[in-house]
Amino acid sequence: MTQDTKSLREEIIKACLYLSKIGQFTGTWGNISVRVEDGFLITPSAVDYMTMQPEDFVVVSMEGKKIRGERVPSSETELHRRLLILRPDMGAFVHTHSLYATCMACAQETLPVIVEDMAQIIGGEVRCTHYASGGRSKDLSEEACATIGDDSAAVLLANHGAVVGGRNLAEAVNACQILEKAAFIYINAAAIGGAKPIPLELVTEERNRLLYRYGKEDVTNL
Ligand code: 13P
Ligand code: ZN
Repeated sequence: MTQDTKSLREEIIKACLYLSKIGQFTGTWGNISVRVEDGFLITPSAVDYMTMQPEDFVVVSMEGKKIRGERVPSSETELHRRLLILRPDMGAFVHTHSLYATCMACAQETLPVIVEDMAQIIGGEVRCTHYASGGRSKDLSEEACATIGDDSAAVLLANHGAVVGGRNLAEAVNACQILEKAAFIYINAAAIGGAKPIPLELVTEERNRLLYRYGKEDVTNL
């Protein structure tokens, strides 16, 4: 189990700065949770990523109680908490306001699995919730949990953004970029007849290869 250490908190700040730099976080919009031994770490609400410090994080128990930290936790804490409970296979979630995933979310469209890396890192189509406003955190978290499914690492929040998970923070950040790329390809491929989805059984095969074999098996002589 991941420990709540200063270096983990520094890694989360680095991820926030990186996601801001590549346009997936805008202003103070975007937040991150990482599962730790006694609950989960969550970014503070409305704190500039440029000035965010390791002591600004809040640790919340899986029952929703604030355990450590002085700051106000992210307004989307309930969304992260409910997703971390629903998906024990995920160790971190990133909520983004990225451009192309948000285009899909504003169209309230499902993003099918259309790209190889999406099959591996996301693992399934990315569905979109019904609209629930950010201020209604219980409604928003219920919508996200009802929509994500158990096959996909991501869900679109209608007219808002996306939430993307990974086994750890690095994988979740990577998955955010792969979701964004797939959304960009899906939207642009519409101009040339539309992207064709990868057959479901091959999506599952690729997802399992990533989870259990990728980087471990030598396939040169098969
Ligand atoms: P917080 O600053 O409370 O995490 O909210 C950011 C956000 O993404 C709102 O939708
Ligand atoms: Zn948001």
